[in-house]
Amino acid sequence: MLAYKMCSSAPFPRASRQTKICVLYGLTHLCHSRCRLNHLDGLFFIFFHTLMPPIRTTKKKKMVYSFQEGKASMKDLLGGKGANVSEMTRLGIPVPPGFTITTEICASYNKLGQVFPNGLGKEIDIAVMRLEKEMKKKLGDPHDPLLVSVRSGAAVSMPGMMDTVLNLGLNDKSVIGLAQVSGNERFAWDSYRRFIQMFADVVLGVEHHFFEKELTKLKKRRHVQLDTELNAADLQRLVAIYKQIVKKHHKKDFPQDPRKQLHLSICAVFDSWMNPRAEYYRKMHNISGLAGTAVNVQAMVFGNLGDTSGTGVAFTRDPSTGEKKFFGEYLINAQGEDVVAGIRTPEPIAKLKKQMPHVYAQLETVYKKLEKHYRDMQDIEFTVQQGQLWLLQTRNGKRSARAAVRIAVDLVKEKMITQKEAILRVDPMSVEQLLHPTLDPKMPKDVIAKGLPASPGAAHGMVVFSADKAKKWKKEGKKVILVRKETSPEDIHGMHAAQGILTALGGMTSHAAVVARGMGKCCISGAQDITVEHKKKYFSTKSGAVVKEGEIITLNGSSGEVMLGRMETIEPRLDRDFTQLLRWADTHRTMKIRTNADTPKDVAMARSFGAEGIGLCRTEHMFFQPDRILAVRQMIVADSEEDRRIALKKLLPIQRNDFYKIFKAMKGFPVTIRLLDPPLHEFLPQKEKAVRELAKSLKISVSKLHTRMMALHECNPMMGHRGARLMITFPEIAEMQTQAIIEAALKLKKEGITIKPEIMIPLIGFMEEFYYLAKVVRRVATSCIVKSGKKLEYAVGTMIELPRACVRARKIARQAEFFSFGTNDLTQFSYGFSRDDAPKWVPQYVEEGILDGDPFSTLDQRGVGDLMKIGIERGRTDKKNLKIGICGEQGGDPASIIFCHSLGMDYVSCSPFRVPVARIAAAHAVLKEKAEKEI
Ligand code: PEP
Ligand code: MG
Repeated sequence: MLAYKMCSSAPFPRASRQTKICVLYGLTHLCHSRCRLNHLDGLFFIFFHTLMPPIRTTKKKKMVYSFQEGKASMKDLLGGKGANVSEMTRLGIPVPPGFTITTEICASYNKLGQVFPNGLGKEIDIAVMRLEKEMKKKLGDPHDPLLVSVRSGAAVSMPGMMDTVLNLGLNDKSVIGLAQVSGNERFAWDSYRRFIQMFADVVLGVEHHFFEKELTKLKKRRHVQLDTELNAADLQRLVAIYKQIVKKHHKKDFPQDPRKQLHLSICAVFDSWMNPRAEYYRKMHNISGLAGTAVNVQAMVFGNLGDTSGTGVAFTRDPSTGEKKFFGEYLINAQGEDVVAGIRTPEPIAKLKKQMPHVYAQLETVYKKLEKHYRDMQDIEFTVQQGQLWLLQTRNGKRSARAAVRIAVDLVKEKMITQKEAILRVDPMSVEQLLHPTLDPKMPKDVIAKGLPASPGAAHGMVVFSADKAKKWKKEGKKVILVRKETSPEDIHGMHAAQGILTALGGMTSHAAVVARGMGKCCISGAQDITVEHKKKYFSTKSGAVVKEGEIITLNGSSGEVMLGRMETIEPRLDRDFTQLLRWADTHRTMKIRTNADTPKDVAMARSFGAEGIGLCRTEHMFFQPDRILAVRQMIVADSEEDRRIALKKLLPIQRNDFYKIFKAMKGFPVTIRLLDPPLHEFLPQKEKAVRELAKSLKISVSKLHTRMMALHECNPMMGHRGARLMITFPEIAEMQTQAIIEAALKLKKEGITIKPEIMIPLIGFMEEFYYLAKVVRRVATSCIVKSGKKLEYAVGTMIELPRACVRARKIARQAEFFSFGTNDLTQFSYGFSRDDAPKWVPQYVEEGILDGDPFSTLDQRGVGDLMKIGIERGRTDKKNLKIGICGEQGGDPASIIFCHSLGMDYVSCSPFRVPVARIAAAHAVLKEKAEKEI
């Protein structure tokens, strides 16, 4: 809309000739203020040329590149699409000719306030003239018109997020010419009605549905179901109706001048760089620092010229599984947007082999050549026009995490890439999805419908029919499955919010499928046996099931099955390729990967994912189990040391057994156990009924319990009586936990397994605090060891969670045997953001650009990171080999892991599911560091 407003009043905002000449000489300001040249341009030019000393000029930037001039390495300037069509042109692959307006021009256009920079109009005119010459056709020629497409294409692929205009160049006259030269009247009118609809929507802001309504009406009147069943006369009638729609809503006639159409479309594509869905997509995928989108103007080829024509998209390997097989779909007698929009369900590519064997053979040669050239799986778009194959696009294909791993490993085996490249090809964060549960194949299932297995994994949730509701329900803490006839880029926020996506239409390359795979979400597309009633909020299936909004369904994105109700899942296992890739990663990384775990089950899982120790065992997590919570509460409400010791005595054997099991599951790997950290009142019941029950169990009066609970109340518990402070006031807690840890390790030693427990004291701010508690721990540990008559090594270290601890790290390190950065608390105390309440404002901070991201997920390298740097430098000043790790949530975040490597940490510790993520990220850290050094 904006494009049209700006460009229609001043179709090509150009500088005056006078200004242009002056700009050439770098004297704009001078000329503007002094010169009155108008018709004396030539004289002025000569005057300057002869009398003025030569003036140094900056070389004018080239704004438009023909496809012969570009190449793959020019992605930043020409966008991915422009660079790759140029590369294909160089490779001799059949590509319709065209040209690209650079991303830099998009930036200038936006900077100037949606205005063409000086000289752009002229460069476009020249490029069009060249294209006309090459195609031997002219734009707007009433006898044999050249038609072009105008497409966006940024340096990073953003599928479907920006705008495209096809069939440009048609008007009331050239449509007749097109009908004549193609010998296909239907095709000409079909192209014209598509063009009006697309142009009106994208450029003039006249919404799509006005046109769709008329199309549906006409099909009803003609008693047909498919667009293809409408004849030339129908489509001609539709064109007239469409033009009326434009006039009514836009208040102007549909523009007939092809050059005006072209310039307006270019503006619209530039504008689409800033549209909300493109902005949202960039934010979601952390895409920043790009100039804008390039615009590709390309001669049209037609897949809708009858049964010897068609269009398709294909991947050189299966994007879901990574299997080495040509994978794709096509539609006969259709244009590209029909495949991507999912309006008709396409045929699998294998069928093309039978339908058009020579085209298939050519396609095979081309895709192999492209994969070999780019050394990666390619996603290609092609059109067949009357038996002739044309490639419209190639790019590195988006793939599921499973496929990414398999393709990377296979390409190494095929000697196309190195092991290092394979590791770097896999996004560490994405592999987490490989570790999530899948459906148990042995469980009975109530399958109500089947569709295409578009994106693997399993998910269950409540059915919703709109993206907005999906987002709203997710906010309310519900799990949702987004069910739509088909999805469009407008649904992106709903897809993001949903656990899984189900669509009735569309193939494996439909919008839903591609986007879900990118997000790592389970998706079933093209479930043709369901009928979706968005407005009435239900879907029905051929099997007779009716599922209303809010009901729970389960999706199996790997088989395409839709099930009623919630289905149980099974834990994942690492497959062969993934294990291989992780092994390669292990040979490069220098940091160890530990896990945060406090149950033997979590420990076993983390071990199976390759954890090399426990970096944080939060003992308080063990306190909530039913067999001990009473003893824990008894300890808390005790108001004398004596009573507390009675309760602690009950807890000792329970804790000893917990630690024993954990040590055993870790099979000799190091285990760091943190002494009790949180404020005590967290363990007390909240509801009155539970308070009464507790008083009864503890054999004390309710009022006594209330008094004790009041005494424990704190105004700001996160900064209150917790961590080191708690144990300094109640050292008997530290004594009991130390005894339990050491005795468990001694018991295991007896069984032949030696472990060196690492006892960690939380929330230290002063060396004196640490010293006080370390003395307690060492006294108890020594006494246990001496009593056992055995030898046992152990270490006493500290968490670094307070800014003061970072600053005083040199002193603390004199006493501590290791540091572990508790970056959850360190972030909380550095920002002064309560970690429990921050989600109330941090999202808005991110949205407004005040924060780059959530510092509780990804380390704030400049602030918290600097404190860590100080802590490490000072900590190692006198103790060069001080062992240092991280155990906050950020320890499982790839960007933070890379940062931790740069700080020289010994290990990162993260949740079990993040262990493989961390193994790959830690290898990336080394490989990227080496690559940077080599530059
Ligand atoms: C931390 O603060 O980073 C940490 C790991 O401890 P917790 O989250 O248990 O406070
Ligand atoms: Mg903490």
